Order: sequence, then structure tokens, then C-alpha cells
Amino acid sequence: MASHIVGYPRMGPKRELKFALESFWDGKSSAEDLQKVAADLRSSIWKQMADAGIKYIPSNTFSYYDQVLDTTAMLGAVPSRYGWTGGEVGLDTYFSMARGNASVPAMEMTKWFDTNYHFIVPELGPDTKFTYSSHKAVSEFKEAKALGIDTIPVLIGPVSYLLLSKPAKGVEKSFSLLSLLGNVLAVYKEVIAELKASGASWIQFDEPTLVLDLDSHQLQSFTEAYAELESALAGLNVLIESYFADVPAATYKTITALNCISGFGFDLVRGTKTLDLIKSGFPSGKYLFAGVVDGRNIWANDLASSLSTLKGLEDIVGKELLVVSTSCSLMHTAVDLINETKLDSEIKSWLAFAAQKVVEVNALAKALAGAKDEDFFSANAAAQASRKSSPRVTNEEVQKAAAALKGSDHRRATNVSARLDVQQKKLNLPILPTTTIGSFPQTMDLRRVRREYKANKISEEEYVNAIKEEINKVVKLQEELDIDVLVHGEPERNDMVEYFGEQLSGFAFTVNGWVQSYGSRCVKPPIIYGDVSRPKAMTVFWSSMAQSMTSRPMKGMLTGPVTILNWSFVRNDQPRSETCYQIALAIKNEVEDLEAAGIQVIQIDEAALREGLPLRKSEQAYYLDWAVHSFRITNCGVKDTTQIHTHMCYSNFNDIIHSIINMDADVITIENSRSDEKLLSVFREGVKYGAGIGPGVYDIHSPRIPSTEEIADRINKMLAVLETNILWVNPDCGLKTRKYAEVKPALTNMVAAAKLLRKEL
Ligand code: GLN
Ligand code: ZN
Repeated sequence: MASHIVGYPRMGPKRELKFALESFWDGKSSAEDLQKVAADLRSSIWKQMADAGIKYIPSNTFSYYDQVLDTTAMLGAVPSRYGWTGGEVGLDTYFSMARGNASVPAMEMTKWFDTNYHFIVPELGPDTKFTYSSHKAVSEFKEAKALGIDTIPVLIGPVSYLLLSKPAKGVEKSFSLLSLLGNVLAVYKEVIAELKASGASWIQFDEPTLVLDLDSHQLQSFTEAYAELESALAGLNVLIESYFADVPAATYKTITALNCISGFGFDLVRGTKTLDLIKSGFPSGKYLFAGVVDGRNIWANDLASSLSTLKGLEDIVGKELLVVSTSCSLMHTAVDLINETKLDSEIKSWLAFAAQKVVEVNALAKALAGAKDEDFFSANAAAQASRKSSPRVTNEEVQKAAAALKGSDHRRATNVSARLDVQQKKLNLPILPTTTIGSFPQTMDLRRVRREYKANKISEEEYVNAIKEEINKVVKLQEELDIDVLVHGEPERNDMVEYFGEQLSGFAFTVNGWVQSYGSRCVKPPIIYGDVSRPKAMTVFWSSMAQSMTSRPMKGMLTGPVTILNWSFVRNDQPRSETCYQIALAIKNEVEDLEAAGIQVIQIDEAALREGLPLRKSEQAYYLDWAVHSFRITNCGVKDTTQIHTHMCYSNFNDIIHSIINMDADVITIENSRSDEKLLSVFREGVKYGAGIGPGVYDIHSPRIPSTEEIADRINKMLAVLETNILWVNPDCGLKTRKYAEVKPALTNMVAAAKLLRKEL
């Protein structure tokens, strides 16, 4: 019985690659230094898998930045603006595409399916020339071989590559990216031939787009592509790997009918419906790579339950053809539990990071082969049992309160326009009111104060004084700038989710549980392990302090339940919706405490609401329903006079606009800097938006300072579509990553633009 790993984190257990990359980019180390760190990481990962007993070990899952960009390099599809003239794509060209350089901006980056990983979007057109220009897959295969380890080279499949691309600038919208398939396949054939010549016996094509809603033309491309590759692939075993969801029935039928494929990999954690498809028919003589160990989470596998699933599959596909695998690449989970020194042993026994998941996969394979490691299985069973029965996980009261939410709509009694009227009477704001999204620049000093307080190096009093001083500075600055609705600047927060997680029950934090987000950037999601409750108020102290410093309205600032959920590792022992409702109740308590403390405007950020959107259309409505419901729960109990704001970090909300309206916030501020037109088109098409809306008037991701005229111009464009009395004026997002030298002039110009237009209206 064999074992297989779809892919492995590249960053290293202590983010070694991140530091090596950043030092190289800063010119502090050489390309050789970077290459050495990378090679060491690869060899230790391969050895680790080999030592664990994994039979099918992947290679070419390492990347200096992103595996899709690696494929772009392999195909020589470098956009002309990077001045690449052919030959092997070097680090210079590669990193210019990834990060831009002094004269050319980077290529676009976008989310990898529904994960928090971001890939570099290929830009293709009818003129794109494809030539074999990066031999990385072959050299990694050989590198492993030289270490005595036989690997499966992994390539992004040709069809997924094209489906994830976008037409280059200037290329007509009607251009079909799939029309490039033949040209792309010509390069794939060369790669395959070289891999074969180097001694590869298997090859893995990752085709994650197989889990999307594909039309018949797209589906047909899979058949065409693999028929075209058939002769090149002769003599090799070929695995097609899909992940992140189940494969639609029609897709399943199409791909399992492909002749030249020897094995199919499916995500059996997120894709439970795929099990039924397999049961209803699996092609004889083909391998099934059964992804039973979750690559998207940090929980230890329930080995007994996986074993019984696998035994059922064995009866269908045959003992020799079943391979135990991970649900997807392990790059979406943390690296190694061994480095978690601060987690207590009970919680630790419930967890498995990438290194531990490799061991789980192998233990399952051995058990199927009749060599079950009884000790390992019984320790796992004990941990599963302790997780089920631990009083730290279950809080009866919270369970009851969450259960009682069902069936009610939780909507504020008065409609939004009536609410806005009474709020305006109280707040007395000018038209085009100005505000910011929450955070102000986070200086080194501020970070140091927080760090020292955490490490008990400064007293609580010293800490409170330092933060108070910072809030005071931010309040005074906003008054000088003449902003209408103020914020306290969030100086006490390291991260908008971590800050709340640390104060809520049911959350645990890791020291090294990093997951790659993009390039060298990693995030460290909190772990939600138990029922969530709020032992005491979390923000009232700071918000009321800030309010006491000014007579202008001070926004209370909270992170919403859906965002806390989507940016954490969540429980897998209850539905996500259940956990979300629990967080919503905790935030509701906070909202009500803020209101009672005299805060009249409360912003509940839902930066990540869209991120949780399921990949398949058929599942989206259900998600949006409970997500939006959770948001409403947080504020359905406030008075009409309390103004509820929300904020979202993306502009492509056109397809979920009705859900956003359904959130029933009084005011929404949204990122908009890069797509005025797209956002406004929704309203132009007649969508009625009665609530207040603040599409960001300038991009906070760039150090550039927008002029008054430019901002006024953008507001005017918005006014052409939106009613004057609902429009707010604000930046795109929080100012945390900017410097005061940028923030002051930018906000000065923003307020000036609002004032200019007020006179004209
Ligand atoms: N209130 C948060 C801030 O300003 C919002 C951040 C975000 O939307 N990502 O930092
Ligand atoms: Zn934002």
C-alpha cells in the first residue's frame, strides 16, 4: 500500500526562505546564498518524507515565489515589458515579474482558489510565444535523485494554467485563452521528454480547476490536452491531481475516461461528494490517490475514521491501486508542530502540521498493508477522544445561545433610510462626511511598546500611558485635518484578528504556525479550538478613552465574525457556520457594551467576507446566507441612533452586492482605488443602495500622495451615479502600513476635496 504527498510548504519550519529572499532582495546576500538556503530546504524536506516512508514524494513543489509564475517561466511567457530576450529565465527577470522593478510594476497577483495564498496571474495573448525557458522541474528532479530520492515531478497542468491566466493588456476580451493550448502543449512535451530522459517514472499534473463549474468547452479542453500529450507521456505513469472541493459529476466522468492517465488524485476532505462518485464507478486498472489527510487545516487526522474510508475504497479500486494521500498540497497548513513550545500539551495532542501529516499519511498506508502501528493509532484515538470530551472545547451556554439563533432573521426593526435620518439628527454631519478606516501608521516605537508589554518588560501603567499618548496624537491630528468622524488609530493592535482572538475564549496561538500568503509573506492564523465566548469587554476601555478626547464622533472599531472565522484555522468538529454564529454573539456583546459606553458610531470590519465564498456556485448562496446573518446578529440590538459601519477590502463585490445590501449596515466603506468603473457600474445598472457608502478615494497600498483635484475628480464620478446624501469620503483601507509623511498630506488633500465639492453642491 503506497503513500503520496501532493506538495509541501517551501518556507521552512522557521521561515528560512522568507529571510533568505528578503536579504537577497535587499542586496545583503548573493544569489548563491539564496540558492543554498533553497537547496538545503528542499533536501531536508525530501529526506524527511523518505524517512517517514512516503513512496511518492513530490519534487518541483519548491518555489522562489510562486508555482504559477514558475510555470510562466517554464513556458517563456514573460510579458515583453520585462525586457527578457530569451534563454533561461533568470532570477532577475523572475523577481521583476513577481515584484516589479524600478521601472516596471509587478504582474497582477490574485487569490489561489479559496485559500489565502496568492499567485501571479499569467498575461497571455495571441502574440505570446511559448518556448521552454526554465528547466526547474528537471533540475529539481535530478537534484533529488542525486540525493538518492526518487520523486514525482509536479507541474501545473496545461489546462489549469490557461484557465487561471488573463488576456494581456490590449488583447481583445473575446480572445480565448484556451486557443493557446496547442502552443503551450508543445513546451509541455519538451519538458515531459526531458523528465523521462532523466529517469522519471511518474509525473503529476495539478489541475485544480477541475473542481470549478466548467462549461463544456473548458471540459473538452482537458480531453484534447491529454489526448495531445498521450504519445509524449507513453511509458510514464501520469497522475492528475485535483483539490479544494469535490469534482462535479460531469467532470469526473470526463477525466476518468482519459486514456493516458494512470491515477487520479481527489480531495476527500472538502470533496465528500467525490466519494459517492467513486463508489458509483472508478475506471479499472487505474490508481486512486485518496486525499484523506487535510492539507488546509492543523487538526490531527481521525485515523480510525480515515482507515475505514480507505478500506471501503480498497474494495472498489483494489488493494494495489489505492494510494493514501493528502487532500491538497500541505503548503496551506503550518510547517512543524515540533517548534510549538508555547502550546499546552493537551491542545498540542489534537494538532498535526505538515511534518506530522506526512507521518499520518504513512501510518494509514502501513495500516492498510497490514502493518498497523498500534501505539500510534491508539495515541491518536486517545487524542481524538480528549478533544471530543474536553471541557475546554465545549461551553454548554454558548452552544445553547448559538442554537437559539436559528430561525430568526436578526434584522434591525427600522429600515436603513429612517435610521440614517435619526442618526443624522444626532451626529449632524456635513454632506460628503470624511472618515478613515481605522488604523493610523504603526511606528517602530509603537511596535516596541506592545512587544515590551507582552514580554512584561514594561508595566501596565507605562503601556496604557504610551498608547494613550498615541491615541491623543491621532485624535488631535484628525481634528487639525478637520475629519468628521474620527478613529482612535488602533495602536494597541498587532493584527485585526489576533487582537480579538487573544481576548476571546476558544482561541489558541502558535509561535511558528506560519503559512505562505504570497512571495515571502506569511500569516500566522489563530486556531479556534473551542466554543467562543467573550469573558470581558475588549475595546471599550480604549474607545471610550478616545471618545473622551474629542467632541467629534469617535468610531468604535471591531473585526466582524466572518473575518475572524476566515482568517483563522477553524474547528472541523462542527460546521463553520456554527463557529461563526458563536463569534457573532461575542461581537454582539462588544457592540452593545460600546453603545452603552456612549459610542455612537461602530465599525465592524468584514474585510474577508468574500474570501470565504465557496468555489462552486451551487454552494455560494448558503454561505452568504449564514455569513451575512452572522454580521446582522452583531448589531441587530442597537438603537436606531447608533450608526453601524462596515468595511470591506476588495472592490469586486458586484456579484455579491445583494448580500452586501442584506448586511443592513448604515454605512459601508470599501476598497475601490483600482476599479472605480467596475464598482460604479453596479449602481449604474440600477441597483438601489439606500445606505451610506464610501468607496475609497485613494489607494493606501502605494506611497503616492493623491492631489486634491484628483480626489475631487473621483468623488465627482461617484456623485454622477450615487446620491449625494449617501456618499462618504474616505481612503481605501487602514493606514497602518503608511508613514505619517504620506498620511498627512494625503488626508489634507482628501478633506480639501470634500470641502471643495460641498461648496459646489
Ligand atoms: N480597521 C482596519 C484598519 O484600518 C481594517 C483593516 C482591513 O480592512 N484590512 O487597519
Ligand atoms: Zn480594508
